[in-house]
Amino acid sequence: MSMMQQPLLISSLIEHAIVNHPNAEIVSRQVEGGIFKYTYGQAAKRAKQVANALTQKLGIQQGDRIGTLAWNTYRHYELYFGISGIGAITHTINPRLFPEQIIYIINHAADRFIFIDLTFLPLLEAVASHISKVEGIVVLTDKAHMPASSKLTNLLCYEELIADASTEYTWPALDENADAALCYTSGTTGNPKGVMYTHRSTVLHAMAAAQYNALNITPDTILLPVVPMFHVNAWGTPYAATMMGAKLVLPAHGMDGASLYELINGEQANLLLGVPTVWLGLLNYLDSINAKLDSVKNVVVGGSAAPLSMIKAFQEKHDAFLIHAWGMTELSPLGTVNSMTRNMAALPLEQRYHAQLKQGRPVYGVEIKIVDDNGTELARDGKAFGRLLVRGPWVVDSYYLNEDKKSFVDGWFDTGDVATIDSENTMQIVDRSKDVIKSGGEWISSIDLENAAVGHPALKECCVIGVYHPKWDERPLLLAIKKEGAEVTEAEVINYLSDKVAKWQLPDAVVFVPDLPHTATGKLLKTGVRETYKNYLVE
Ligand code: ADP
Repeated sequence: MSMMQQPLLISSLIEHAIVNHPNAEIVSRQVEGGIFKYTYGQAAKRAKQVANALTQKLGIQQGDRIGTLAWNTYRHYELYFGISGIGAITHTINPRLFPEQIIYIINHAADRFIFIDLTFLPLLEAVASHISKVEGIVVLTDKAHMPASSKLTNLLCYEELIADASTEYTWPALDENADAALCYTSGTTGNPKGVMYTHRSTVLHAMAAAQYNALNITPDTILLPVVPMFHVNAWGTPYAATMMGAKLVLPAHGMDGASLYELINGEQANLLLGVPTVWLGLLNYLDSINAKLDSVKNVVVGGSAAPLSMIKAFQEKHDAFLIHAWGMTELSPLGTVNSMTRNMAALPLEQRYHAQLKQGRPVYGVEIKIVDDNGTELARDGKAFGRLLVRGPWVVDSYYLNEDKKSFVDGWFDTGDVATIDSENTMQIVDRSKDVIKSGGEWISSIDLENAAVGHPALKECCVIGVYHPKWDERPLLLAIKKEGAEVTEAEVINYLSDKVAKWQLPDAVVFVPDLPHTATGKLLKTGVRETYKNYLVE
């Protein structure tokens, strides 16, 4: 071995920031109200105070799991580095999970302490009797905002906990393959499954995420992750921003259109990241006040498919390029990104929009392939579709303390998605395998139908499911929410779709609904509606 074996550690990211860009800014909305601003240099000092408090006051050891129930804030950022830096594990808990799932994951992870935002205290109080192994709860606030009483015992105040801790700390030289951060998939059936990221996988992922053909994070980037730090670590952006010295803007609980617009404008954010439902909210709000985003260059959209109408709205109304990306908890999460290529830039606008509908090309480090039900690899011709398999240094190899091995096939991870891959290795998700509609032996993509339908000016959100049909086994049913004050009929929606999808793919019926259920990560939750409407066409 003739090269140095410098371990890739999360602490090395914050150390890099201290030396190279201590004055780059972090701006954070506060749960208590107002906006807080400081620098990476100051954040690093507080992360070291966290490290000292954890080890000296709370007796945290390497390998211990620490839960967080927190928005995207500067304190949560400090925990990312303070906890993982000492060799403990930052377990980000998604507060939108069902209470039973929250109980399950806190106990499964055996979290010793939970660091929590004020907002989420009632949620934890409701499950308190089921998480008795947790030794203490640290409220992410100062003394003045500490709740007077709580059903939770052993309640500590974050600012008090770290106040007298030293700002000096030498990070331990951990093994780069040591556990660093834990995230559970929300899962629509069964218990959530944990994915344990290592220091090495996290640092490599951050390097890849920052690249031009990925999220393109530079020192000039003013990055606003709307995607929560409890949803696959805000897609790795806190780590990547720290590596690059990008200005980091954290929205806390302000996920609605008005709050986001205020922060984007106020800080002149130029890179936004989030799931489609959040952008629907922002775009509707901007329309309603007739406002334009003028600082935003790129909007990264992932988690669910970005509809054509959203790609167009960002470009035509806000001069912002929508970068479509695909990933999952099991991939840390970055798999493919549809960044602008020379070929794409040369296309006429309408064709370019269609090219943007694809989920993109793998970032270096990730390999993808599609296979049929026998495991035979399918052609990269943009037409053949099959199960999408992936592998790479930040792809899960087994679930945390879980014997379930059925997603792991010959060194590849089976994503549960169905996709096509074209000759340039651009991947397009057809559907989740459980959502695809099997009509008389042919497959219909629920995603394609949803995204075509939501382009109708009177519709706000659409959900397509396969329902029982005596002749074709399954046929598509469209459930749609109308925009406020808008009127439209079933026949008009079908007519609107008729030149956008093949005739045999048109939904058999349209049902207007007031609301649609979502998962903890903002995706349509189809299991319940499938059950409710399963006999809709034969009733
Ligand atoms: P959860 O299921 O807990 O919400 P993930 O965020 O890990 O967890 O979800 C990953 C899944 O989300 C992928 O397998 C895929 O089905 C879907 N997904 C992610 N990005 C996209 C995208 N750009 N287009 C379509 N589907 C996507």
